[in-house]
Amino acid sequence: MPVEKDFKIKEIIQRNYNVKSFRLEITDWLDFKAGQFLMVTLQGNPKLKRYLSISSSPTEKCYLEFTKKLTQSDFSAALGNLKAADTVSVKYPFGEFILDEANPKVAFLSGGIGITPIRSICKYVVDKNTGTDIVLLYSNRSIRDIVFKDDFSAMSRNYPLLRVAHVLCEAEKGFKCTVGQINASVIKGEIPDYQERKFYLCGPPQMVEAMRKILSDELGLGVEKIVTENFQGY
Ligand SMILES: Cc1cc2nc3c(=O)[nH]c(=O)nc-3n(C[C@H](O)[C@H](O)[C@H](O)COP(=O)(O)OP(=O)(O)OC[C@H]3O[C@@H](n4cnc5c(N)ncnc54)[C@H](O)[C@@H]3O)c2cc1C
Repeated sequence: MPVEKDFKIKEIIQRNYNVKSFRLEITDWLDFKAGQFLMVTLQGNPKLKRYLSISSSPTEKCYLEFTKKLTQSDFSAALGNLKAADTVSVKYPFGEFILDEANPKVAFLSGGIGITPIRSICKYVVDKNTGTDIVLLYSNRSIRDIVFKDDFSAMSRNYPLLRVAHVLCEAEKGFKCTVGQINASVIKGEIPDYQERKFYLCGPPQMVEAMRKILSDELGLGVEKIVTENFQGY
């Protein structure tokens, strides 16, 4: 059952030029599954309410973290003004974008801020050493848009069954990536065993729908092989 309560902000981390993580102080642990989301309300104002994925893993017991792309909205402005020790109201956990541990091989396709629940799931897999074989295809406009870049590099060093392949619209000298967008041939090239994997897609609704169509219409994967999370609002 989701529970609503006030949390004190423990730490705020700037992830890139327009993305910040907010770590909340935990007093009583409430269990959640990696990949689930929460609802944040600011200043007790129902207009300042958004759904945000939990970007920390249930294995990180010292805080509960969410990560927001800061836009021009009133919500983003209010969030961006918050400081450590300020309070936010949070209701959680919600959602079904969770790892089916029965699948030994999975793939994540993500764009931009859609990485947040995937970061939670990957961190859980790495910390628990579940043995799940993961390929992440992570697409961004440019290198400066990548969120959790160093975090994913560290996770793949510690857990060789996690492979991260970056896809960027703009090439970056000295950075290994595919230039362009995620399409059927990029998926085939980066994930030759794609037919053996369950796919998890997360990002803005248009991107998720485009990825879902590629997997089902062009690569012939059945609906049971595709799990999606739409970040409504982008
Ligand atoms: C399950 C889930 C998980 C999400 N996780 C994250 C996350 O981890 N990080 C993150 O940055 N964002 C996440 N989002 C998106 C987030 O909830 C906001 O919608 C988004 O950040 C835009 O809000 P904004 O205040 O920046 O911009 P706004 O200007 O408020 O939003 C842009 C437009 O989207 C509309 N909109 C806002 N929220 C919704 C909604 N829920 N449904 C339909 N339309 C809406 C607004 O009316 C406006 O027209 C998630 C969304 C969902 C549904």
